[in-house]
Parts: sequence; structure tokens; C-alpha cells
Amino acid sequence: MPKHAIVIGGSMSGLLAARVLARHFERVTVVERDRFPTERPEFRKGVPQSHHHHIMLVRGRDLMEEFFPGFDAELAALGAPLVDYTNDCALIAPAGQVPRFPSNLKIRPCRRTLIDWVVRGRLLAMTNITFLESTRVSQWVTDASNARVLGVKLEGVGADGACPTTLLADLVVDASGRTSRTPEWLKSLGYAAPDEQVVNSFIGYASRLYKKPANFKGKFRAVEVASQPPHNPRAAGLWEVEGERWLLTLIGAAKEYPPTDESGFLEFARSLSDPLIYESVRSAEPLSSIHGHRGTENRWRHYERLQRFPKGLVVMGDGVCAFNPIYGQGMTLAAMGAEALNDTLFRALRAGDHELANLARPFHAKLNKNIGPAWLLATSDDFRWPSTVGGKPDWLTRLSYRYIDLLTPLSLTSSEVVEAFLSVANMVKSPAALLHPRILGQLLVSTVRRPAASPRQNEAPRPS
Ligand SMILES: Cc1cc2nc3c(=O)[nH]c(=O)nc-3n(C[C@H](O)[C@H](O)[C@H](O)COP(=O)(O)OP(=O)(O)OC[C@H]3O[C@@H](n4cnc5c(N)ncnc54)[C@H](O)[C@@H]3O)c2cc1C
Repeated sequence: MPKHAIVIGGSMSGLLAARVLARHFERVTVVERDRFPTERPEFRKGVPQSHHHHIMLVRGRDLMEEFFPGFDAELAALGAPLVDYTNDCALIAPAGQVPRFPSNLKIRPCRRTLIDWVVRGRLLAMTNITFLESTRVSQWVTDASNARVLGVKLEGVGADGACPTTLLADLVVDASGRTSRTPEWLKSLGYAAPDEQVVNSFIGYASRLYKKPANFKGKFRAVEVASQPPHNPRAAGLWEVEGERWLLTLIGAAKEYPPTDESGFLEFARSLSDPLIYESVRSAEPLSSIHGHRGTENRWRHYERLQRFPKGLVVMGDGVCAFNPIYGQGMTLAAMGAEALNDTLFRALRAGDHELANLARPFHAKLNKNIGPAWLLATSDDFRWPSTVGGKPDWLTRLSYRYIDLLTPLSLTSSEVVEAFLSVANMVKSPAALLHPRILGQLLVSTVRRPAASPRQNEAPRPS
């Protein structure tokens, strides 16, 4: 068994990486530049996005249960509601509300801080995982030929006021998110940096927490109002979260950033294409200030293409691919990344590769397979805004958009189509589910019956 693994970053990818590394290494150290909350789930500055909506998709929820049996029950005990995506959410497309019906697409919405709190609590109970807090990784330690990463250089004070200057390990996992410095550090050691694909539709978020009114009569646990590219860039999601609270996130694409001042925020909510969210929150009691967030571009670093890569190092999470967050894929991809790390480590060690000399290539390749469909979804609407930068979709992507355009009007009448869309969006089915013969049959019938109309009149339901 290899002795020691280091994880850079203690957010979702880092925590889940630590969970699986603890199965294969004698001990695991998570190095995090922030101090973690100790009394209750709390915001920390290394994860600024945690002020905003954080939906764990159905696939992610399933994986969390595999990593931490009883995870869902723990969230429930802490007050997170159970929400049937197709029954309890009012999903509002530009042409109207999509049908509501019971399904197995169940999620447990809660604040991001609560998810991290529960995950970290589980890891603290594992005897071979240590957290080194208030400590920043400033570089790798490498061997004389720079062929292998041997550990990391550290800066900071450590949780107890003393911080070692270096830490050695058999494997270093970079889970430091969008600000990962691996590309830069690779170049400084004479390696090529990975190719980067960036698609930016300049999406901004603004969020606020409200007390759910005690006498609230509305028949939903969430409302999602979709934007309509290229005409209306404004969207929003209102979700019930733990503690009988609502989290409202306003979203603007194409630089239509939602304001963070009191009146501007409410005015943006009022201007949405449907009044349900505004009517619900306008007299509700705010429990927080309004937080804004930009920096939401899709960024894919293609580590799988690199011919040379140091041994003893892998990269995962947002540091490999960060998505436009509208589809809520990041934490689920982090969980899928941890699953891929577990599989590739298991195979490498079973093949006798105790030095993990051949880990990075199969791991990054596996990660890449998870990212492809998620990238397609995340960038799909981005390319419809004229101000988006980052190239043009290829012909296959354009073809799939065209197909989605044809299918979306059906989501206003067919529960089967809604379920297929949401199963794909929740990553429990592959995009091929949208080509199921029954769906193709419905499409054929509706195309024959439908008078010619703009295919973008309606929108597919989606998480926001
Ligand atoms: C506005 C917004 C909304 C989102 N909504 C959703 C959603 O609904 N559902 C969903 O699944 N995902 C969502 N995401 C994505 C999700 O937040 C991320 O995918 C998820 O946090 C996993 O990221 P990560 O762990 O790879 O990196 P991050 O979350 O960025 O964490 C990186 C960690 O590394 C630490 N770190 C960085 N550098 C160093 C260093 N040198 N030394 C030590 N520590 C370091 C940081 O302090 C931080 O703790 C959203 C993102 C944004 C921006």
C-alpha cells in the first residue's frame, strides 16, 4: 500500500478525493489555505460561490451515498427537504410551465455550506485523513530531473500555528479549483501547459436568503424561470433549503448581471418572464445580504492530451474543467472524478504499479469522458448569446442543438420528454436517452401536426 497522498484544496473535489485516497494510502493530508468552520456550516472565502444555489444532481446524490452511506439521511436530519424535480418544482419555460408529475428524480436542496460541513464531518471521523488548514501550497517538490512530483512546498501558519515548509508524498492531487496553478508550474519545470478551451457567455449571479413565510400557500418547493437566448438573458431559481428558508438566485447572461443593491435586486426579480418568484419573495423576510458572483466561464484544460506529465501528480475538479454553473454540474462531476480516481488507483495498484508511474494518463482520460457530455450541455445555450466569446460549436454540436430545438416544444405537453431532459441534465441517463424510439415517435407526430414555428419559441426545462 502506498504511504502518503496529499490533496491541494479542501473544497468538494478535494474532500471527495481524500475519501477515495484513504482506501488506497496509509494516510492522506488535505492542505487548505482557509480555516474550516468548526461550530456550524459557515461561508469561507476560498469557496465564494457557496453564497449561491448549489444543486447536487441526482447522479451526484447517488455517488455521495456510495462514498458516505447515510449521507442523505444526515442532510434530511439537518433539515434539507426532499424535492421531486418533476413534481415539486415549478419549471417555467418562456412558453409556459412544463407539466408536473411524480418521478424518481429526487434531490435534496440545501446550502452549499451544509454539504461541505457534512462531508468534512465524515472525513474527520476517518483516522487516516488529516487537514492542514490556513496553509497554502506554493509549488511542488520534484526530483532532480523534474520527472516526478515528490510533494509540495507550503506557506502559512497551519491550524495550530506551526506549518512545515515541505510535505512529501507518493501522490499529489491538485484539487485547487479554477485558480489551479498546475499549468504555470508545469511550464516552469519544462513541460507544456494543457490546451485550454474557454467559452464565456458572461453570466452573473446574485443571491439572497429569505425566511419562508410560515403561512405560505404556494404549491412548490422550487421555482425555476428560464432565460430565452438570444432574446431574454434573465433567469432565476428559488429553492427551499434547510431551516425553512428560501435561497433566491438571480441569473443574467450576456453581461446582464443582476444587481446586488436592495431595489435593483427586487426589480430584476420583478422583470423575470414569470411573476411567481417576485410574488413569492417580495414580502418575505430577507435573512442575508445580497451576494454577487461573476467569473462563471466554462474552462476545460485538456490534461489528457499532454504527451509528457510528471509522475506522482494528478489534477481534478474545477482545475480541469469548470462549467457555467446554470446546469449545476460541478459537484456531481467532482464526485464522478473521485469515482474515476478510485477506479484508476485500484487498477494501477492491482497491476503492480506501486510507484503510480502510470496513473495520470488513464485517470485524466477517464475524467475527460465524464466531462464531454457535461460540457456539451453547459455550453449549449452559451453559444446562442451574440456576445459569447470562445469560438464556435463544431458541426456535431450544432446538429445536437438543432435536435434539442426541435424537441423542446414537446416538453410543454409530454411528461416523457420532460423526464428524459431532466434525467440527462441530472446525469442519470446519457444524452442518447433523448433519441429513444418513443421520443422520436412523439417528435415525428408533433412535427407532422405542428404548424411551422420558430423552434426557439419554447425552452427545455433545466436546473439553474
Ligand atoms: C456561482 C456558482 C454556482 C454554482 N452552482 C453549482 C451547483 O448548483 N451545483 C454544483 O454541483 N456545482 C455548482 N457550482 C460549481 C461548484 O462550486 C464546484 O464545481 C465545486 O466547488 C468543485 O470545485 P473544486 O473543489 O474543484 O474547486 P473549488 O470549489 O474552487 O475549491 C478549491 C479549494 O482549493 C483551495 N485552494 C486553492 N488554491 C490553494 C492552494 N494553493 N493551497 C491550498 N488550498 C488552495 C481553495 O481555498 C478552495 O477551498 C457553482 C459554481 C459557481 C461559481
